[in-house]
This record gives sequence, C-alpha cells and structure tokens, in this order.
Amino acid sequence: MAELMNCPNCGALFVKTNIRDVCEKCFKEEEVAFETVYKFIRKKENRTATIFETSEGTGVAEELIIKFIRTGKLKLAQFPNLGYPCQTCHTIIREGILCDDCSNKFRSELSAFQKEEERKKELKERNKGTYFADKNF
Ligand SMILES: [Zn+2]
Ligand SMILES: [Zn+2]
Repeated sequence: MAELMNCPNCGALFVKTNIRDVCEKCFKEEEVAFETVYKFIRKKENRTATIFETSEGTGVAEELIIKFIRTGKLKLAQFPNLGYPCQTCHTIIREGILCDDCSNKFRSELSAFQKEEERKKELKERNKGTYFADKNF
C-alpha cells in the first residue's frame, strides 16, 4: 500500500515504497552519490580505502556511505577495509550493529544484569517469607 510521508532528507512529501525511503529528488541525488562512491572504491588503488578515505575522496557524507552499506547497496565483499561504525564505540565493523568487543561486553553485562535480577527476585521472595514469618510471631 502506498504511504505518504515526509522525506527525511529535505522534508518534501512523497510516496514511500519498499525500495525508496526518500523523495524522488533525494533518491536521484543518492543514486549519483552512490555512483560516485562506487566508481571511487572500484579503482584498484582505492579498493582498500576506509569509509573515511572514501568520504574524503568522493565528497559523499559518511552517513550516506554507511546507508549504502547497511541497505546492501554497497557490497563489502570486494572491499576489505570498508565498513561502518559500531553503534557503541565507533570501531569499523562489517556486520551486525556492534563490534566483537562491544557485543562480548554487552553479552556479559546482559548476563550480569540477568543474574542481578534473579538475585533481586530471590531476595524479594525471601523477604516476603521473612515478612510473613515476622507477622506470625
Ligand atoms: Zn527529499
Ligand atoms: Zn564497539
């Protein structure tokens, strides 16, 4: 179903589709930017460029290049140093949303959090018991 929305780039009203989340004008601009990025990165001497170097070399904003990568438009397979920043520490990663370090940290924090929650629950249950026990006295 067609959905009318404001373009996140320029605010113009447009019909949102599955492949397009910006207005016609911005979409065309993104296409041009993509061509520029792709032409740049395909050059042998630029194959190993990072996202920062690519942005510098093309004048295309990093965020837009990141969008190309995230949406799968720009395939990372051929470009060993291209990636996008981890959401937490901005290390360049090539898949997921967090780098290895952060996802390990996140996982251990999560399990620590879960343990803490378990402990709190246990404590609460025990206190409840004590409370009733006290009352009975
Ligand atoms: Zn627009
Ligand atoms: Zn990270």
